[in-house]
Order: sequence, then C-alpha cells, then structure tokens
Amino acid sequence: MVSLPDPLDDEFPLGDGVADLAAEVDCPYCGERCIIALDPGSGADQEYVEDCQVCCQPWVVHVHYDPDGTAEVWVEGEE
Ligand SMILES: [Zn+2]
Repeated sequence: MVSLPDPLDDEFPLGDGVADLAAEVDCPYCGERCIIALDPGSGADQEYVEDCQVCCQPWVVHVHYDPDGTAEVWVEGEE
C-alpha cells in the first residue's frame, strides 16, 4: 500500500528508513512466534486484522511507533 506524504510526516518521519519494518509476536491462539511485516507509512498508531501464519486464526494487531521509530507491537485474539 502506498500512502501519500502528509504534513504529519514533518513531525513524525516514519518511512524514512529508521522505523522498524517487522516485529515478532506470539500468536494468542496457537502460541507460535511469528514475524510480521509492518508499514510505518500507515501512521504512529495502527490497528488491523491479520491472520496467523501458522493456524490462520484472525489476530487484532496493534502497532505503536515511538518517535525514534521503534515499534511496539502486540496481538489479541478477535472476539
Ligand atoms: Zn496461530
């Protein structure tokens, strides 16, 4: 997905090569550790649904980027 530049990028320069592009998460269903790709261009706080690569159950993925580009990522089982 391509996102157009917007004024927020001046204050929060994600997508310039310093932001984390992947994260390890533990599946809440099967417990397997998976590496998921991140999209810094989608913003500092993200929430979306992604299927587990192992058991195919839907995760709700939460992503928060710190100002230095470090991603905090956690997943929950979809209710
Ligand atoms: Zn799983």
